[in-house]
Amino acid sequence: VSGFVAIVGRPNVGKSTLMNRLVGEKVAIMSDKAQTTRNKIQGIYTTDHSQIVFVDTPGIHKPKNKLDDYMDAAALSTFSEVDAILFMVAADDKIGPGDRYIMNLLSQTKTPLYLLVNKIDLVHPDTLPEIVANYTDELHFTGVYPISATQGNNVSDMLAGLEKHL
Ligand code: GDP
Ligand code: MG
Repeated sequence: VSGFVAIVGRPNVGKSTLMNRLVGEKVAIMSDKAQTTRNKIQGIYTTDHSQIVFVDTPGIHKPKNKLDDYMDAAALSTFSEVDAILFMVAADDKIGPGDRYIMNLLSQTKTPLYLLVNKIDLVHPDTLPEIVANYTDELHFTGVYPISATQGNNVSDMLAGLEKHL
């Protein structure tokens, strides 16, 4: 199994924490698909049977005060080049302008989307369905995974779900 995956989300939701958990030190053999991707590689998750290359999405991390068509086009181009997009939100935070900005861009791509609701260690499990609905009401997701990037909850389930579709 191999594929390219973009991980997006507003600052502080836990993207780097998840990357640090996933990315190993093994040297990866890149498929020729790498050459078609001009995006920065954030990390490569490798096991004996799979390799997932996580790529950065230029322009999507900066909160914007006005529309920036150029950066939006770059983000959309990245979205069209990857095999899957992980949209990370934080379970303990309300949906905000940073989320909505990204969701607007995500609504314009046909690439399969996965919702990662991170930091579930900070909320009561009973509140999760309502949190998830805030996002699933607006976008179609191929998979929804409540996780904790710091504690590791459900991270292997998420990877297994992702690998099935790569
Ligand atoms: P990024 O800006 O999206 O890359 O977010 P970071 O990975 O830098 O994380 C922002 C903060 O959230 C850090 O203090 C992390 O330790 C914390 N954090 C990340 N994941 C979790 C989690 O699953 N649970 C809790 N409680 N904190 C987390
Ligand atoms: Mg980060």
